[in-house]
Amino acid sequence: MKGIWNFSAGPAVLPRSVLREAAAEMENYRGWGMSVMEMSHRSEAFGEIIGQAEQDLRALMHIPQNYHVLFLQGGATGQFAAVPMNFMKNRRADYIITGFWSERAYTQAQRYGDVRVVATSADRDHSYIPDCTDLPISRQADYVYICENDTAHGTQFFHLPETKGKPLVADLSSCLLSAPVETEKYAMLFAGTQKNAGIAGLTIAVVREDMMENGGLPETPGTMQYQNIAKNRSMFQTPPTYPIYICGKVLQWIRRQGGLEEMKRQNRKKAALLYDYLDESRLFHPLVEPPYRSMVNVTFTTGVPQTNTQLASLAEKEGFIGLKGHRAVGGLRASLYNAMPYEGVERLVDLLHRFEKSSV
Ligand SMILES: *Cc1c(COP(=O)(O)O)cnc(C)c1O
Repeated sequence: MKGIWNFSAGPAVLPRSVLREAAAEMENYRGWGMSVMEMSHRSEAFGEIIGQAEQDLRALMHIPQNYHVLFLQGGATGQFAAVPMNFMKNRRADYIITGFWSERAYTQAQRYGDVRVVATSADRDHSYIPDCTDLPISRQADYVYICENDTAHGTQFFHLPETKGKPLVADLSSCLLSAPVETEKYAMLFAGTQKNAGIAGLTIAVVREDMMENGGLPETPGTMQYQNIAKNRSMFQTPPTYPIYICGKVLQWIRRQGGLEEMKRQNRKKAALLYDYLDESRLFHPLVEPPYRSMVNVTFTTGVPQTNTQLASLAEKEGFIGLKGHRAVGGLRASLYNAMPYEGVERLVDLLHRFEKSSV
């Protein structure tokens, strides 16, 4: 098999060992005589899989006892509607817009109430994170919303906003498990697992108990009502069993690697290698201002769309996949999730360097 380096933003690269284990267990999972895909979600074997996954997530993220872990369908996009439906008691919320994904969440939330933008980076093409130390938070806001790492623009919050006592809700889809997290600072966080935690079809939500006590807006469907899902231990409907199984393997892999501190150390080192090159390059330049650069989604450009396309197609020929920028942003993007080895980034820098030399 020809080796490839997969820099896609998601679905994305998985640890090789996770794929090998899944392949070995495909037809006969640990002597149960069938695949995980064929098992009842209420079986003893699957009960252990989902229980262990929750336990490993709790251990890695230091999730306090008064938080529920929910395994959901519907993607992160589903949460863009589920969040207001569950939390908008006063039908008021404050959103911080830092790119494509918070914009999308904001658009969905507007269907359920009076939603205000309390900060935005739109004035400079979302190339930075606005100062969030003294925001005009509404007195009646039910929550304050951020997308912590904008996968499309390549920005990341390294300091959480000051929410003046209001609950913080955050989309962590692309940065979940990439570094340690202070879970107790969030009222709720969620992430689709196809970026850094597994495969498509599963969304993880971590919700503080008091946030779901009132059950949400009356029109909230049972499949999206956090209180209902928590009460049913993520089995109100059939949960996405195979994605939970794969996510469980990724969590085990991270624990064996040394946990989130170790993930952060590796991710920092990979990101530094690429950003250092881009900062010195005369052909490429990063799209994001230095203090706000994502550790996992590196966005850059030559400034010339045609040259970007040339690079992306040369890269593909050499086995580098997924370097085209997000359709809403353009340019180029390399996603350096946990499962991307340092060597992959070294090879990428070598490719960019050769391209640069040949084009000047
Ligand atoms: C990918 C992504 C989403 C959308 O996920 P879906 O599973 O397609 O709904 C939302 N937010 C962020 C930050 C993402 O990276």
